Amino acid sequence: MIRYNYHTHTTFSDGKNTPEEMIEKAIELGFEKLGISDHAVTAFHRDWSIREEKLTDYVATLQRLKKEYADRIQLFVGLEQDALALPLPEGLDYYIGSVHWLEKGGRYIEIDHTQQILRDAIRDCYNGDTDALAEDYFDLVASYADDPKVGFIGHFDLLTKFDEINPPLFLPTDRYRAAWKKAADRLIDAGKIFEINTGAISRGKRTTPYPSEEILQYWGERGAKVIICSDCHSAEGMNCAFDRAEALAKKHGITLVDLF
Ligand SMILES: [Zn+2]
Ligand SMILES: [Zn+2]
Repeated sequence: MIRYNYHTHTTFSDGKNTPEEMIEKAIELGFEKLGISDHAVTAFHRDWSIREEKLTDYVATLQRLKKEYADRIQLFVGLEQDALALPLPEGLDYYIGSVHWLEKGGRYIEIDHTQQILRDAIRDCYNGDTDALAEDYFDLVASYADDPKVGFIGHFDLLTKFDEINPPLFLPTDRYRAAWKKAADRLIDAGKIFEINTGAISRGKRTTPYPSEEILQYWGERGAKVIICSDCHSAEGMNCAFDRAEALAKKHGITLVDLF
């Protein structure tokens, strides 16, 4: 049974609960470790990120809570970084390497807000070539291979977020497969850790975690290092579908690791 979660959001960014409420929930569930990882600041978008002026308070608050709760749970101060976000602040224990944005021809394309945004971007910026957007996305994910400090890679195939509730956009073409395999290989060869991320399940967007079973199978074959996280935006989602994620890891021969 998984007794950690290193991908969680609070009221400092777009979560519903305070850090204290998230910590109390993790303790109630018998977790040994909890990482809080609100969204890093980007220069071009503010809706769901930490406000730049709150960043110092965020780190200081979590560092204080880490000490206050030390005898009940190990708290880790994290941040969900974006490949296009501003430089990281001091005082973090770890950060997640995620890609929520692509930049193409001066336009910022949000990967996980609506499928329509992706469809419009493919039409306007990629001449209708869906695989070309996927190639850019996975190239950016793979760029974390060169980042010695990244804790783990967030929701590896996030771009498929809406492909269960809508007609799927990213089909398993040869180019699509080649794009994710190239990124997976670079990251595995660099020793990076991936997550099985159940976040879209608690938000009603998917019935299965990220990544797809085809990718999970590949991770299993290649001996990738994998953790399970819920990417929860509320305390009630703390261990959402962890049992399903664990069963999938087992099915594909994935040996789960721990971050700390
Ligand atoms: Zn994310
Ligand atoms: Zn997240």
